[in-house]
Amino acid sequence: HAVDSAEGKLAYDLDRAHVFHSWSAQGALKPFVPAGALGSRMWDYDGREYLDFSSQLVNMNIGHQHPKVIAAIKAQADVLTMIAPAHASLPRGEAAKRILAKAGSTFSRVFFTNGGADANENAIRMARLVTGRDKVLSQYRSYHGNTGAAIGATGDWRRVPNEYSRGHVHFFGPFLYRSEFWATTPEEECERALHSLERIIQAEGPKSIAAILVESVPGTAGILVPPAGYLAGLRALADKYGMMLILDEVMAGFGRTGEWFAFQGDFGDGRNSVVPDLITFAKGVNSGYVPAGGVVISESIANAFVDEVFPGGLTYSGHPLAMAAIVATLDAMDEEGIIENAATIGRDHLAPGLAELQAKHPMIGEVRGVGVFWALDLVADRATHEPVNAAVIGALKSELQQRGLLPFASENRIHVVPPCVVTTDEVASALRIYDEAFTAVEKS
Ligand code: PLP
Repeated sequence: HAVDSAEGKLAYDLDRAHVFHSWSAQGALKPFVPAGALGSRMWDYDGREYLDFSSQLVNMNIGHQHPKVIAAIKAQADVLTMIAPAHASLPRGEAAKRILAKAGSTFSRVFFTNGGADANENAIRMARLVTGRDKVLSQYRSYHGNTGAAIGATGDWRRVPNEYSRGHVHFFGPFLYRSEFWATTPEEECERALHSLERIIQAEGPKSIAAILVESVPGTAGILVPPAGYLAGLRALADKYGMMLILDEVMAGFGRTGEWFAFQGDFGDGRNSVVPDLITFAKGVNSGYVPAGGVVISESIANAFVDEVFPGGLTYSGHPLAMAAIVATLDAMDEEGIIENAATIGRDHLAPGLAELQAKHPMIGEVRGVGVFWALDLVADRATHEPVNAAVIGALKSELQQRGLLPFASENRIHVVPPCVVTTDEVASALRIYDEAFTAVEKS
């Protein structure tokens, strides 16, 4: 790896002098400065190598610098770098065709956006337009993006200082380890969460509610794999009250759970048992090599806009470089068995490896996840599930990074979220590093 510390120092100094960062107080930031990356590995300007078990923001599903995706972007750049959204273009059509083939036969169109937030923004807009209703129900434990309706739909702390949009109602989804419903089994948790949601729907007035919007597997909120029957229960409530079901697959989609779309997996209801009306995606669709997201639209919703104007659009909708990256990403994922790799890594390596870690370290209260989408829920007390404090998470992050692993931390959790291309050797190395880091933090 080329090492150029002067360049690394310049990158750091320019950042600290001029760049304004997301979701942060700017004063105390000390950003990591990657110099390069390949697959599941990154390196810094001092030549130190790291396993990227964050996948950046849980988006590098195909791994860093995949040669086929880079070649496709370069080839498209030589031909046509930008067209107006109203024009037709081959990479956009090819990308839409491929995404629809993965989504299933009830879907007929794709609307492309610049990322995940505007995907949710437009899905909410479509649901409101087709139902003629206003409210959107979403979970407290959720993140849907940093724009008007998307941040309004978000459940976590990031909504509160941004709450300017109307029509958002929140509810608690199932999460047995920290149950809001005094449940002791997954069945109870599921039944009570659905019962509580139905009571909210009735109290809000079903005819005022356009959609239920949930992440198929809530990600940043803690990788909350739904209990058997929950997604099917949401579908049933949406049907009963004439609401749309929007599944946010921005983080969970395109391989993260070992499926093309997380909702197609078997969460105990059988595979492909729940079909939403709208799917939102971004991140893994091309791993963000060029930013892109979108809404996969059911045929019946698409048909509502055959004669009616859809009042929404973006200059870069279906940007040729982003579309070329999508086509190459989806083809490489197919050809190289990348989705299958994520499923196998999860089932045969991360599930048993993380369970072993939990058995050894009392701080790990719960391990949950699927595919390459896992959370370690860290507790000060295994009996009460009291979360560890921020100092423990800070110490763990630093111990992990010193040992050559880039972690993803959220609240009291470490999320184990490597690229879908991660190898068994890399998982074995990462498990060793997690083990050592927990031991070091326990000692101190
Ligand atoms: N939805 C989910 C589930 C996400 O995890 C995110 C981002 O983390 C978003 C939406 C927003 O996507 P973006 O940051 O591309 O706007």
